[in-house]
Amino acid sequence: NGRWARAGAVLKELEEQCATPSEKVKEVADAMTKEMHAGLESEDGSMLKMLISFVDRLPTGDERGLFYALDLGGTNFRVLRVQLGGKEGRVVNQQCEEVSIPQDLMVGGSDELFDFIASALANFVASEDEDFHLPNGKQRELGFTFSFPVKQTSIASGTLIKWTKGFNVNGTVGKDVVGELTRALQRQGIDMQVTALVNDTVGTLAGGIYDDNDVVAAIILGTGTNAAYVERADAIKKWQGPLPNSGEMVINMEWGNFRSSYLPTTDYDHALDAESLNPGQQIYEKLISGMYLGEIVRRVLLRLAVEAALFGDNVPPQLEVPFVLQTPVMSAMHHDTSADLKVVGAKMQDFLGISNSSFKARKVVVQVCDIVAKRGARLAAAGIIGILKKLGRDRANMKRTVIAMDGGLYEHYTIFRESLLATLKEVLGEEASASVLVIMANDGSGIGASLLAASHSQYL
Ligand code: ADP
Ligand code: MG
Repeated sequence: NGRWARAGAVLKELEEQCATPSEKVKEVADAMTKEMHAGLESEDGSMLKMLISFVDRLPTGDERGLFYALDLGGTNFRVLRVQLGGKEGRVVNQQCEEVSIPQDLMVGGSDELFDFIASALANFVASEDEDFHLPNGKQRELGFTFSFPVKQTSIASGTLIKWTKGFNVNGTVGKDVVGELTRALQRQGIDMQVTALVNDTVGTLAGGIYDDNDVVAAIILGTGTNAAYVERADAIKKWQGPLPNSGEMVINMEWGNFRSSYLPTTDYDHALDAESLNPGQQIYEKLISGMYLGEIVRRVLLRLAVEAALFGDNVPPQLEVPFVLQTPVMSAMHHDTSADLKVVGAKMQDFLGISNSSFKARKVVVQVCDIVAKRGARLAAAGIIGILKKLGRDRANMKRTVIAMDGGLYEHYTIFRESLLATLKEVLGEEASASVLVIMANDGSGIGASLLAASHSQYL
């Protein structure tokens, strides 16, 4: 009858507008490569900031001693300590704690946020036991992973360009975030020096290379998305300083802000963007990352409820609440293999207040998840291919090329992950993709930040 025809039409339109055939993936990849060049050329040469990380030496394995790391960048922040034992000992001991950030602190004042972090760190330091050794008279040192766009001014300082991923804290933009943290540490009476400020992608890259020398880039696919890679210093036209001895520099792409006319977008995406905390920004991130995939699906389902009465004559009120449908729930529905799609039914009941959904409606929900997830995964693959092209690592018969991957979206959303990997193969071709390996660098950014804290220690 009429409503199924309308539902079919909405789905068909979604499918067409989200389509990412190989050709489209290649176009997006080429656009990414082009923007990478532009961003390296000059300051503000591209919407890709291509930020210079000041990391020009990557971990060698010789790092030794006790180091702390603090990771702020999503809904949780993590504190970590590691005892590094050089080439033989490697990571001798490590301890980690995760603290969730109260919602109000994500949109409150800067001091409140940094005081909260410093106080959690103070508790963590107080629990240090005999497994960790700080030589007499030395100060504890910390690598600060801060996964928001920062204009780095040295390895241990940088000013915040903007908040992303649902953070909108007053009074931090334009400030040195190490200064903000250091003052909060002092207010808490913690005697600790921040010796490295790194983006999570840069931390993941450092941790990845510590484990595997062939790592060339790190990608985050979690709440947000970003990428970092090792660039030839002389290819960075905008770099004013002396060329580093290593000849290399890690670039934090801030690729979440990528946009291109080749990106397949829909009215759902445009509305999501317009109503977001950061309209007009992070367009690529809003198509592929965990913070947004579920929300895109919610918007499609809402239209289906309104225009095609997908869930009965009334529009379920909960479906109108932004961000009620989170990506882990979307993922659970998408992976439902039961004959009657009972997981879909249960999730819609629990999260959207929709009871007694019909089997047909559940099938539509799964299709929407499929379209949205695969578009995201294929566009993420396009970005990776863009980096590989920039590095000349998209060809047959090349060196082993490893991508270090981190983030809950890639880790837990199996269909997303498999679609991404299949797209790499499809677009790079069998031969080139045979040399490309994506490895999971689970929380590599914490270890990476502590390794960079070690290699930039005040005592060297
Ligand atoms: P962050 O990106 O905040 O540092 P993570 O890397 O752990 O943290 O990623 C968390 C994000 O991963 C969540 O916001 C969510 O979007 C996504 N995620 C977590 N679990 C799942 C899941 N089971 N299925 C799909 N996405 C998930
Ligand atoms: Mg993270």
